[in-house]
Amino acid sequence: MYDTEIAIVGAGAAGLSLAYRLCAARPGPASPSVALIDAPPGPARPPERTWCFWEGAGGEFDAATSAVWDTLRVRAPDGTAVTGSPSPLRYKMLRSSSFEAMVHERLDRVPQLRRVEAEVGDVVDLAQGGEVRGVTAQGQSLTLHARWVFDSRPPRKLPPGRTALLQHFRGWFLRAGRPVFDVRVADLMDFRTPQPAHGLSFAYVLPTSPSEALVEYTEFSPAVLGEDGYEQALTSYVTNVLGLERFEVTRAEQGVIPMTDARFPRRAGRSVFRIGTAGGATRPSTGYTFAGIQRQTRAVAAACQRGSTPLPPPVHSVRSLAMDAILLRALDTGRVDGARFFTDLFRRVPMERLLRFLDGGTRWREDFSIGLRTPVGPMLRTAAELPLLPRRDQRPVQPTAR
Ligand SMILES: Cc1cc2nc3c(=O)[nH]c(=O)nc-3n(C[C@H](O)[C@H](O)[C@H](O)COP(=O)(O)OP(=O)(O)OC[C@H]3O[C@@H](n4cnc5c(N)ncnc54)[C@H](O)[C@@H]3O)c2cc1C
Repeated sequence: MYDTEIAIVGAGAAGLSLAYRLCAARPGPASPSVALIDAPPGPARPPERTWCFWEGAGGEFDAATSAVWDTLRVRAPDGTAVTGSPSPLRYKMLRSSSFEAMVHERLDRVPQLRRVEAEVGDVVDLAQGGEVRGVTAQGQSLTLHARWVFDSRPPRKLPPGRTALLQHFRGWFLRAGRPVFDVRVADLMDFRTPQPAHGLSFAYVLPTSPSEALVEYTEFSPAVLGEDGYEQALTSYVTNVLGLERFEVTRAEQGVIPMTDARFPRRAGRSVFRIGTAGGATRPSTGYTFAGIQRQTRAVAAACQRGSTPLPPPVHSVRSLAMDAILLRALDTGRVDGARFFTDLFRRVPMERLLRFLDGGTRWREDFSIGLRTPVGPMLRTAAELPLLPRRDQRPVQPTAR
C-alpha cells in the first residue's frame, strides 16, 4: 500500500541522523523501509559546513570528528581571558563531509534504505500516510507514498516571533606563516572585534594545529553583511588581534542561523512531521543545533521502533525557551551589553554547568542560579514586558552563501 514506510526529505544533519538511527545504528530485518530524498547538487543543497557540539568521551561519531578540545576560552573586549575546562564534556568538531561519508558507508549496507535524488516541491498529508512530490535529477516527476514523512527542508519563512535576530558569520580555514595557535584551547567568543551598533560581534577560533585554525567572524544582529563586510572584519581580526602578517586562506564557510523566539511546529499533518532546524532543534540563544538534532532523531527512531506515532519531541524545554526569549529581547533592545553579558556568564558559571544548561541538562535550581548570574534588573524588566509583545511575521531566511 505504501511505497515505503518512512520518507525522509533532506539528507543534511537531521535527515542523515534519522536515517542512521532508523537503519544503521541497529541494522537488522526489523528495520523499516526508508526513502532518503535529497536535492540534487545545486542551490537547494547546502555547501559543506562544520558542526561543533559537546559531549563526553566515546561519542558515536568520534571516528569522524576532526578535532577535540578540553579547554575553552572567552575573551572580554579588553583581552581579559576566562579559560576553563568543561570536563567531562569535550568540545568536538565534525565536518559535514566526514559525517556524510561515515553515515553513507553504514547506510550502504542496509537493503531497506533507498536513496533518491530529487528536489521536493510538496509534502502532502493524506488520509492514510503522506505523499512526497518532486522532480528527480533527470527531470522526471517523483511521487512517493509513505506511512510517515519527516521533512527537514529549511523553512523559507520563519514562524512569527517577538525577536528576530540572526547569527551570521563567515569563517576562514587559515594557515599561518608561523606557529601561533594553542591547539588545546578553543576560543568560543573573543570580543576583541568592533561591536556593531545593534547586537554584538565576536571571533571564534578553533585551532587544528599550531599554525592552522578555523577563524570565524560572527554577529548576532538583525541583518547579514555583504561578503566584503565579513572579509574586512576577518582581515582586521587576523592581522590586528592575532598579529599575523602572513597567512593563507585555504577555504571559507559562511552561514546564517535564525535566533528567534518563534515557535516551530513539529507536526505538519497526521503523518507529516518536521525535524532539524525546521522542527525547532536550534537553541535560540546560541544557534547550536547538532546536539539537539541527535536527541530529536533518537526519540523519533525509538517511537518508530515501538510502533507509536513518531511525533518529534520538543528539543528544548519550555523553561529554556523562556530564558532564551528574555535574553534575545534584552540583547535586541540593547538593555544588556552582549560582550559583557557573555564574558560575565562564563566567568561566574562553571563551564560544564553552562554547557549542560545549553543542552537542557540542568535542573531548575541550576537554571535559577544561572539566571542570578545575569544582570537581574534588565532581565526581569524584559521578562515582564515579553507577554505583552505581539509575535510578528519575520523576513524570509536568506540561503547560506558559499
Ligand atoms: C555554516 C553553518 C555552520 C553551522 N555550525 C554549527 C555548529 O557548529 N554547531 C551546531 O550545533 N550547529 C551549527 N549550525 C546550525 C545547524 O546545525 C545546521 O544548519 C544543520 O545543518 C541543520 O541541520 P538540518 O538537517 O536541519 O538542515 P540541513 O543540514 O541544512 O539539511 C537540509 C537538507 O534539506 C535538503 N533540501 C533542501 N531543500 C530541498 C528540497 N526542495 N528537496 C529535497 N531536499 C532539499 C538539503 O539538500 C539538505 O540536505 C551551522 C549552520 C551553518 C549554516
